[in-house]
Amino acid sequence: MIDLHIHSKYSDGSNSIDEIIEIAKNKNMTALSLTDHDTTFGVAEIIEKSQKENIQVIPGIEISSVSNGHLIHVLGYNIDIKNSQLQDLLKIIGAHFNESFLEHYNWLQKNHIIDFDLDKILKYADFKQSLALSDIMKAMIENGEPYTLKDWPEFFNTKVKKYPGHRFIDDFPVHSSEAVEVIRQAGGIPVFAHPARIGKADLGEMELLLPHGLGGVEVYYPYHTEVLIQKYEKFADEHGLIKTGGTDWHGIELTTWDSEMGDYGVKSLEIINPSIH
Ligand SMILES: [Zn+2]
Ligand SMILES: [Zn+2]
Repeated sequence: MIDLHIHSKYSDGSNSIDEIIEIAKNKNMTALSLTDHDTTFGVAEIIEKSQKENIQVIPGIEISSVSNGHLIHVLGYNIDIKNSQLQDLLKIIGAHFNESFLEHYNWLQKNHIIDFDLDKILKYADFKQSLALSDIMKAMIENGEPYTLKDWPEFFNTKVKKYPGHRFIDDFPVHSSEAVEVIRQAGGIPVFAHPARIGKADLGEMELLLPHGLGGVEVYYPYHTEVLIQKYEKFADEHGLIKTGGTDWHGIELTTWDSEMGDYGVKSLEIINPSIH
């Protein structure tokens, strides 16, 4: 399988680029796409390192956006990572996440839920575009506290989300139509990620993005049932969209669904050749 949905340490995954390549080798994967959240920091590195292993890499991204109160992730494939519109948009998103991160940190610290210096987290910012909330857990573990990365989802749901300012959707700076258009400007194919996550709004939100250049639907995904797969295949066929797939890999500790990198994906790379879409 060609897994088209993989995260690394450059966003909120736990694997380094070397580790991702190692897993890909062990699973005999011939191609993959790195689709970190709102950053292309890892793309050049994975392309360079995977060449030696004969693994083809599709430059990818997963852009956070909002439409009608829904958090929508838009995947972009075969993007030009040097495109200035794309990088300008990612800077806006990164600044928003860093600001939101600091608000969360200050609140958690003030309420004695966490107790350690910001410097311990800021070093994670040295090599990536924006801090992820899960970097709090990485710093706590390094601080000798009795957690593992597997504790993160529960810690997030029971502690971090309690922050009264946890209002991701309300003031998020990027609309989904803009994410789709910028991926097109960067020469890529915009794909609606894991549509089932927004429930009944799925088809309606995808339809709204068609005139902006939506090019595909992520059909093959760990928690898409057979019924959902058929529904999204039908939608894609009706609108001439490509059908992609992947595991949304975040590393063994941070992937909360029951699948390993390479378990979901597509069989051929032909579908994401930009010249035919
Ligand atoms: Zn996503
Ligand atoms: Zn993802």
